[in-house]
Amino acid sequence: MNHTPTHQTYDIVIIGGGIMGAATAWFLTEQPDFDGRVLVVERDPSYEFASTTHTNSCMRQQFSTELNVRVSQFAADFVKNLRRYMGDDPRVPDLTIRSFGYLYLADSDDFANTLRANQKVQLAAGAATRLLTPDQIASEYPFYNVDDIMLGSINTVDEGYFDGSTLFDWFRRKSRERGVEYIHNEVVAMARNANRIDSVTLKSGAVVGCGQAVNASGPRAVETAKMAGLTLPVEPRKRFTWVFSAETPLDRDLPLTIDPSGVHVRENGGGTYMAGGHPDHDPTAPYDDFTMDHGFWQDHVWPIIATRIPQFEAIKVQSEWAGHYAYNTLDHNAIIGPHPEVSNFLFLNGFSGHGLQQSPAMGRGTAEMLVHGRYQTLDLTPFHFDRIAAQRPILEQAVI
Ligand SMILES: Cc1cc2nc3c(=O)[nH]c(=O)nc-3n(C[C@H](O)[C@H](O)[C@H](O)COP(=O)(O)OP(=O)(O)OC[C@H]3O[C@@H](n4cnc5c(N)ncnc54)[C@H](O)[C@@H]3O)c2cc1C
Repeated sequence: MNHTPTHQTYDIVIIGGGIMGAATAWFLTEQPDFDGRVLVVERDPSYEFASTTHTNSCMRQQFSTELNVRVSQFAADFVKNLRRYMGDDPRVPDLTIRSFGYLYLADSDDFANTLRANQKVQLAAGAATRLLTPDQIASEYPFYNVDDIMLGSINTVDEGYFDGSTLFDWFRRKSRERGVEYIHNEVVAMARNANRIDSVTLKSGAVVGCGQAVNASGPRAVETAKMAGLTLPVEPRKRFTWVFSAETPLDRDLPLTIDPSGVHVRENGGGTYMAGGHPDHDPTAPYDDFTMDHGFWQDHVWPIIATRIPQFEAIKVQSEWAGHYAYNTLDHNAIIGPHPEVSNFLFLNGFSGHGLQQSPAMGRGTAEMLVHGRYQTLDLTPFHFDRIAAQRPILEQAVI
């Protein structure tokens, strides 16, 4: 990848080439009224520390707000019809969703009521969420211990695993083929003139003029916002993943099971399973801290999994990693759209643990906003920065 931009000015400079930056770049190339120059600046094209390469790559429609359900419904349609969306290009593979579903388990009246309320929102938006009594859970999935469980909530339509890394590859590949320029460099400063960003300065020293700038910097979003003189309630939070094999694999697909403790575990194929979680003490992580917490697995996660699914008493960890969520401390939801005053600076931040599935809707919406100054498909304005300034959270009850 080149280090040097070909031009001195671009209509749009995207700061960060993870899935959000790449999705936006691709959707820009889909806008019929737009033939401007687009530059994507990526500080690490190996994506060694990006959220996108540490993801668990699942999608769900079990959210508590209608808009988040609709965002994921577009993801499901986009993933299942990727080739059609990408112009029927025969090189683009057919992708599917492995719809084992997410199974939320409630062990308290409060959480059971939350699941009931969420299901109403989801059904109204067209999702296929079912509530299950403990007996129904035991009959559909006999391997669970449901002694302490009051209610389960599951949706096995368009909810489960998808191949996010192939989606990421094709966003990048197709947008480059259509003229988007990606460079290996880092945005280190911005020139703000009153309420406009005039240019970005790269680590190499080059100054690049921009019509509009997009903050797609993942867990580093706050650093990019600072360069524009803005603050953002987004911070890196460490999230652990373990892949393990079971001595006796389950006889059917394991839904992505969210234990009442917050630990989650799911089908990973071939007799392997993927678990995730984080300690209650959940501080901001230094950007370069990806160390594992082995004690947390041994003393917390594995005992919880083995209690919930006794067949998982005999398991062997095969791989593990720590990744960073870009965690929105106000309400865990996306922060997107133009800054109310610095209107040529757009946010695309704070996706916590659901950004991979949100990338098609957020990339499409951001491209529409950049080109037309308004959304043309799904109205994403509730996610705008205004709510942050007004401290008006959109509370999402279904967070993992
Ligand atoms: C453990 C884990 C599990 C997850 N599981 C799921 C899941 O199952 N489903 C789901 O939908 N989502 C999941 N997510 C969330 C999802 O992966 C992220 O929300 C998504 O990848 C965010 O993409 P991004 O492009 O915003 O950020 P990133 O992928 O982090 O990309 C941002 C890029 O910006 C670059 N950058 C930063 N600053 C600069 C700068 N100044 N100049 C140039 N480049 C810069 C970085 O190098 C980086 O490559 C998970 C995340 C983690 C960590």
